[in-house]
Amino acid sequence: MENNYYIGIDIGGTNTVFGIVNEIGEIIFTSSFSTNEYKDPRDLVKDIYDKYINFINTKHIQASGVGIGAPNGNFYTGCIEFAPNLHWGENIPIVKIFNEIFKLPAILTNDANAAAIGEKFWGAAKDMKDFVVLTIGTGLGSGIFVNNNIIHGKNGYAGELGHTTIPESNRACTCGRIGCLETFVSSRGILQTYQEICAKKNIEIIIGDISTKDIYDLAQKGNKEAIETYKITGEVIGHSLANLVMILDPEAIFLFGGIANAHPILIPTISDVIDSNVLSLFKGKVKILPSALMNKNAAILGSTALFYL
Ligand SMILES: [Zn+2]
Repeated sequence: MENNYYIGIDIGGTNTVFGIVNEIGEIIFTSSFSTNEYKDPRDLVKDIYDKYINFINTKHIQASGVGIGAPNGNFYTGCIEFAPNLHWGENIPIVKIFNEIFKLPAILTNDANAAAIGEKFWGAAKDMKDFVVLTIGTGLGSGIFVNNNIIHGKNGYAGELGHTTIPESNRACTCGRIGCLETFVSSRGILQTYQEICAKKNIEIIIGDISTKDIYDLAQKGNKEAIETYKITGEVIGHSLANLVMILDPEAIFLFGGIANAHPILIPTISDVIDSNVLSLFKGKVKILPSALMNKNAAILGSTALFYL
């Protein structure tokens, strides 16, 4: 039997990663490009194509399609729309560009959906029909499966949990509004929470010198302010997730991303807050789990899995 290969592309504001994945979810080749170096996305796609051709010529294989995960990637239109960290214009017809250069079918979705699809096909959600994957990084994304289907919504925008608003926040969001969930639950949000706690206690910290990884390390060593930071983060997201649980009744919520690595601190808080804020019917029902793809290239795996949906 012929092996089936798909190309996975993860377009990020800093790096674009390209991989070739076989039908059992193994990445057999990967390469990375600096997104910022390309003034025109067409030149980036041409460089990816050259790498692809070089590789397949040595292995005598052929890919059947290109799966693309990108911030604000729209499954329906095939365009990256209004992505704040990409400087290629408001509407990038990325699927059309890949079709033209690769002469292969291409599918696009946003990066959080790609992570959720990856979890479904290659991760811990293989046997689940209803689950949510939260991607916590620079921002907060969510990919939602209901009845075994990823939810795109009418216009392709479903799952913007990070920009739902919360009463706890009067912080300004990068979207231009005030009080979005991701102003707390994101690397930027966690830094701000830590700074505010330290300021209240008159503890001097040098802003710019501290990262979320430092805060995590401090929390592991028992630092009170760092632990409080993760507790507040867990409480804030727990309240939002309690509402989400009552709307969707998911089997599990997976946390993906560097911050989610703090799960020994975050997950118990999130679980407690969900349980104290849902109807008794839901108590103890939803599992909060770290993503099984945490140390793998989830975006590459997820974008190729678009072809298995
Ligand atoms: Zn926002």
